[in-house]
Amino acid sequence: MLKAVKVRLYPTTEQELALAKSFGCARWYYNYALNACIQHYEETGKSLKLSVYKAYLPQLKVEHPWLKEDCYSAVLQCVAINLNKAYTNFFEGRAKFPRFKSKHHKQSIQYPQNVKVLGDFLEVPKIGVVKAVFHRSISGKIKTVTISKTPTDKYFASILCEVEDSASQHRGDKTLGIDLGLKDFAIVHNGSEVTKYSNPKHLKRHEKNLARKQKKFARKVKGSNSRNKYRKLVAKVHERVSNSRQDFLHKLSRKLVDDSQVIIVENLHIKGMVRNRKLSKSISDVGWGMFINFLDYKLKASYGQLVEIGKFFPSSKTCSYCGHVLDELTLDIREWNCPSCGTHHDRDGNAALNIRNEGIRILSMDGGNPVLAVSRQRKTNKPQGGKAVVVETGSPHPICTQMGVG
Ligand SMILES: [Zn+2]
Repeated sequence: MLKAVKVRLYPTTEQELALAKSFGCARWYYNYALNACIQHYEETGKSLKLSVYKAYLPQLKVEHPWLKEDCYSAVLQCVAINLNKAYTNFFEGRAKFPRFKSKHHKQSIQYPQNVKVLGDFLEVPKIGVVKAVFHRSISGKIKTVTISKTPTDKYFASILCEVEDSASQHRGDKTLGIDLGLKDFAIVHNGSEVTKYSNPKHLKRHEKNLARKQKKFARKVKGSNSRNKYRKLVAKVHERVSNSRQDFLHKLSRKLVDDSQVIIVENLHIKGMVRNRKLSKSISDVGWGMFINFLDYKLKASYGQLVEIGKFFPSSKTCSYCGHVLDELTLDIREWNCPSCGTHHDRDGNAALNIRNEGIRILSMDGGNPVLAVSRQRKTNKPQGGKAVVVETGSPHPICTQMGVG
């Protein structure tokens, strides 16, 4: 099992300089390769292969000797692999088109090998022995180490280790359906009752502050000194928001994963398509994506399972009891009565229960192995030859299939 530990680094002034050079080389090569990919595509209509832009490196090092002197060569290999990943994520609809890296944003480099832990220090090739603060001891074999610098000038290392499995944890046995919302962050249905988790108040306050500062920042003249100063200020607020958001998401995902064996969510791509455009998006989007990732890796680490419903189905408008689908349910309606069976529904609880039922239906279609659901690494819903592949067939009556699992 892989486990990541994040530690704060305190490089000396010389080490900061060495890191800046490595960040610079990695950024330069990333942008160079990305540019080559874009040009190649414009000229041929085909994407450039990883092996091709990896093979540029020896020649580039001859033309630009600093690339060899200032940067550990394995770091540049990782840059190529990461660019390839960014492209794959884009093609599979998980991310936007890769962007050129800027020195004004977060910087990071990856070491696939040869980083060692020496007491309270981290030994990094080309950088030296860097002071580090470990809150947890590093056990197991170190796989990769990612060193990053935040826009607020803090340094971190994320150390990925291979550790022995600890399977015998105390685990709950529930199957949870989760609807992600704006009013409440997550609405969780366990089959018999619904629980709502709202965003913490301080997070909302920070986010408002951030939005205000970002607006001011956008009004500053490009390239001006005050813009650069403001960039740092925005970065600081941003850091505070993202820390408190991450903290909230870590705690909530931990609690839900400890309670359950299976967690079912709507695929965010699908969710985005059906969402009202007027609703504020970016803030919730960031939180939702991160939350699903946290659930996913925590479930994997404890042999649980995340099921993403990869096809549109009207989770809000469907009666979770009889399967009747309403023609319309506007956002202001929080509670409704089913015209077919008369069941009274809380809007969000009903949606979460429908998501749960749909996930169970998908799971039960293949003896508990949801090959047809859009499970995280699978690509079953990738369009082929211009024609979308049917992921799975919808069931109009979710209640009929509520069986077995959970
Ligand atoms: Zn009904």
